[in-house]
Amino acid sequence: MQSHPIQRLVIVGGGTAGWMAAALLAKAFGPTLAIRLIESDEIGTVGVGEATIPQIRHINQFLGIDEDAMLRAVRGTLKLGIEFNDWRRIGDSYLHAFGDIGLPLGLVPFQHYWLRDWQRREGVAPDLWSYSINAQACRQMRFGRMERVGSSPLTGVRYAYHLDAGLYGQYLRGTCDPRHVQRIEGKIVDVRLRAEDGFIESLQLASGEIVDGDFFIDCSGFRGLLIEGALNSGYENWQQWLPCDRAVAVASARVAPMRPYTQASARAAGWQWRIPLQHRNGNGHVYCSEYLSDDEATATLLAHLDGEALAEPRMIRFTTGMRRRSWNRNCVALGLASGFMEPLESTSIHMIQSAINRLISLFPDRHCDSALSDEYNRQTRLEYESVRDFLVLHYRATEREDTPFWRHCRAIGMPEHLARRVELFRQSGQIFRHGEELFTEVGWLQVLIGQGIEPQRYHPMADALPAAELDGFLGNMRTLIQRAVQTFPGHEQFVAGHCRAE
Ligand code: FAD
Repeated sequence: MQSHPIQRLVIVGGGTAGWMAAALLAKAFGPTLAIRLIESDEIGTVGVGEATIPQIRHINQFLGIDEDAMLRAVRGTLKLGIEFNDWRRIGDSYLHAFGDIGLPLGLVPFQHYWLRDWQRREGVAPDLWSYSINAQACRQMRFGRMERVGSSPLTGVRYAYHLDAGLYGQYLRGTCDPRHVQRIEGKIVDVRLRAEDGFIESLQLASGEIVDGDFFIDCSGFRGLLIEGALNSGYENWQQWLPCDRAVAVASARVAPMRPYTQASARAAGWQWRIPLQHRNGNGHVYCSEYLSDDEATATLLAHLDGEALAEPRMIRFTTGMRRRSWNRNCVALGLASGFMEPLESTSIHMIQSAINRLISLFPDRHCDSALSDEYNRQTRLEYESVRDFLVLHYRATEREDTPFWRHCRAIGMPEHLARRVELFRQSGQIFRHGEELFTEVGWLQVLIGQGIEPQRYHPMADALPAAELDGFLGNMRTLIQRAVQTFPGHEQFVAGHCRAE
């Protein structure tokens, strides 16, 4: 029995972060925790954040959500990866497909066999993505749920979702048991701190109502109402590595085909996303204001829509970086309040999810011992830095010189870990995943190869396989994958058959 358990939890903010926290914590703690969530209709939510990565499916499992019902409610589609266009050079395109690529043989990772084949045939062998079921399904715009490729050891399809951000928050809200989660609509105008230790004591709403609690979760978005506004936790600016600082977003009419992947297309001073939903496409142009005006950015966005714009474009300003302490005293910041890296690899919603997991595993009592918050902040930093490095690679490894922005990107100093990783890969074809890093070796491999970083050599053990056996090994894999993909319906057909909203 805990002597000072946290019994009253207050969540500030009803965006994706706030409702995700409410739903997961209510499920985890049940009646032992009284949760109140405050959100302001007047302020609203950021309203973007529509592409996800496969870990989001764990939320459904944890909450007992039926996937098809959820997709129907959020007008969702399925996502197998991200297509990067014009990043290395104009006209170049590659995929970061979820899931595995090929199979290792003994201790030697698959890429070494592929590299041997590629080098032997001087670059005219089947490309890396011929060994990815996700990539092949993307190329054919098909989708199917499949755990394994036939009876082979090849892993099957790994997928995530595209979802309507506003509807997803509402959907999560609907999963909360109102006996454990109380929603309060109102605008917070004051945060009161306890004199003796600076802990947050209570919040005052514009109506005069006072909301007090033992522990506070700040999901108030970029403003960081509690974590920064009241607790001055500090923000580390990462613009020297990730220079984009604005986005302009707009929904557009959906035009066929319904792609089972997100598109991220480089532009003169940034890049543009296209996210297919059932009822519309989500679009946005992320750019660097030093090199492009807001009007130019909006014009570029509108010029590259598939269908007509459905609303006025919305401008969003941000500073890439992270809160120095996401957990400070009796407050943890989640979502945009804890930091922001641009949505190039659709990581933000996942980082909310993993932060909630971290909070659950380190859940304090009312003293909030610093050993717990220090560990939380240490793990948060590792996660942020590894995602940052992955994003920086996309910019830094460009060969583009056509605009001042891309020339600037080529000169970005690489963070030390990233520089080491790139050099190791260049020299040996080896990639290692460190600790709890989010992206797997296969994710790194695709972006490294996609951005044109080719290893000088492969592992010598890959040469132990006789050439004919190598051909058979690779050929069989390609055949198995192609056969499996042929059994899938088109993505649009899959959505129509399983999760089309009425
Ligand atoms: P918000 O949605 O801003 O919510 C803040 C909440 O706090 C609101 O409910 C607001 O009313 C409330 N609030 C604020 N102040 C007060 C107050 N004084 N009183 C009461 N309530 C208050 N993530 C992805 O995973 N994939 C993507 O593709 C992706 N794309 C993105 C594109 C852009 C341009 C941006 C900026 C972000 C993107 N993200 C993406 C990130 C994603 O949008 C966020 O992580 C997610 O929406 C969570 O936002 P939030 O809940 O932290 O903040």
